[in-house]
Amino acid sequence: MPDEAMAQYDCLIIGSGVAGLSAALQAARWGKVAVLCKADAATTNTNLAQGGLAAVLSPDDSPARHVADTLAAGSWHNNKAVVKLLAQEAPHCIAELLRLGVPFDRDEQGELALGLEGGHSHNRIVHARDQTGFYIQQKLLEAVSQTSNITLLEHHMAVELLLDSAAGYSRCAGARVLDSKNNRLTSIWSCATILASGGAGQLYRHTTNPAVATGDGIALAYHAGAALEDLEFVQFHPTTLYDPGNPAFLISEAVRGFGAELVLPGGKPFMQLYHRQGSLAPRDVVSQAMHAEMQHLEVPCLFLDLRHLSYSKFANKFPTIAQKLQERGIDVRSELVPVVPAAHYMCGGVKTDLNGLSTLPGLYACGECDCTGLHGANRLASNSLPEGWVMGRRAADHAEVWKHDIPTILSASAEEEPAMQQVSTSTAALLLKQQLQELMWQYVGIVRSREGLLTCQEQVGTLCGQAAYFTTYSTEVLELKILLTLSTLLIEACLQRKESIGGHYIKDDLLAVSPVSIVMAN
Ligand SMILES: Cc1cc2nc3c(=O)[nH]c(=O)nc-3n(C[C@H](O)[C@H](O)[C@H](O)COP(=O)(O)OP(=O)(O)OC[C@H]3O[C@@H](n4cnc5c(N)ncnc54)[C@H](O)[C@@H]3O)c2cc1C
Repeated sequence: MPDEAMAQYDCLIIGSGVAGLSAALQAARWGKVAVLCKADAATTNTNLAQGGLAAVLSPDDSPARHVADTLAAGSWHNNKAVVKLLAQEAPHCIAELLRLGVPFDRDEQGELALGLEGGHSHNRIVHARDQTGFYIQQKLLEAVSQTSNITLLEHHMAVELLLDSAAGYSRCAGARVLDSKNNRLTSIWSCATILASGGAGQLYRHTTNPAVATGDGIALAYHAGAALEDLEFVQFHPTTLYDPGNPAFLISEAVRGFGAELVLPGGKPFMQLYHRQGSLAPRDVVSQAMHAEMQHLEVPCLFLDLRHLSYSKFANKFPTIAQKLQERGIDVRSELVPVVPAAHYMCGGVKTDLNGLSTLPGLYACGECDCTGLHGANRLASNSLPEGWVMGRRAADHAEVWKHDIPTILSASAEEEPAMQQVSTSTAALLLKQQLQELMWQYVGIVRSREGLLTCQEQVGTLCGQAAYFTTYSTEVLELKILLTLSTLLIEACLQRKESIGGHYIKDDLLAVSPVSIVMAN
């Protein structure tokens, strides 16, 4: 933890993924910057991104087509101004990442190889094997480590935003922070604060997100009085490896693009009966179909069949996925791969303008925790990494205005308190978290109903009552409380939105997807 003299910055950034680090590099041009991360700096959603970044780079593509595809994926619920901005800015993001040394794949002519993904009308996905996010994370961290006025604080969890009302209005002035290695709680004051804390996949039993993705920035902003938007739009990815007890692992849509088929237990393909594009139908359709089949057959997972494909070509195209499957003891040449849909991406979050400014003065949000309106009701594949970069930079540029508006509270001495972590409390908190994840998966997952949402609301209320007894500052307790806050808000948002749209599918609105395995069995 920095000493008292050090705990004051021009810009405090909460998060070390693509959004936080691009913001840090930009803010370092005008001030002294601190970047916090809850775990080590590379434990982020960014690090796990397999696919790539959407950017218009070929002469026969156009920003207007990228805009149209993004609006269609988002059910036209998007903010068109930010969609246009992203389409214009994404090529600069690629240029900057190339400058930092990200080894994007090239074609035979040496040009950037542009892949195609679901929902895109043109080849525009820039990628680095199936580890695009890993390389971006690595190169951004290298650049940050070479920038003298950025302090990276690993294992430092923001637990509350500091507010200063001396100017006659409430403004964000930094954060209370738990240094989890040394078990101390302290305050970091800053002129501007940027939330870049990522998504909230940990709300659910099945998720592609790492353990740090508990939606902290969104809950902190809410408690500080900033507006949130579109929380009900959660994107579920249809295919993660089903491997109970071990961390989830995403099996990219591109594997289905390569020829893998979704099948029922026993090996029968079924997706053609739901959609003419079969296993390559849009993500929400595939997830809903899988959900219906799993419920009907009372099975915890379905399967991907790769047995008919060339293993060498598969391993060559997807080296990381092939290796992970091998490590988990699955031989795709002779066995089916168990898969389950999982919570993947939060389209909603802290409401911001085009500069990333939230409704709370001095507080910005960028990346997955923001809601600029870019994604609308559902995210177009590969738009989030460029969004993180574009909005991170814009927020950092704009935040300079606060450098000259130093919080008066800065003169107050920042007190420190010991964080009295109790192992027994942490274990109990983890158990409550699992109960919450089950409830959210069952009632607020891929298919929702008004009755289920009300049941969940009541049961989450009971869990909130139980969690109120925890008064310690362990990471587990803090994360549990954050997840409970977010669940409550997300359920409320679902109840308010009566129609099915994008990532919010409510079966009281449309005919529920019915399982087709009954037909197939006959
Ligand atoms: C498996 C997977 C594959 C994906 N593939 C793609 C893809 O191909 N293309 C694409 O565009 N998008 C993809 N996405 C989505 C994309 O990776 C994320 O949306 C994006 O990386 C989010 O970046 P971020 O900077 O907002 O947050 P993250 O990269 O998630 O970083 C969050 C940071 O915030 C920190 N943090 C959180 N809470 C606190 C706190 N309280 N205090 C301090 N620090 C905190 C974390 O420690 C972490 O450092 C994928 C996501 C996943 C999970």
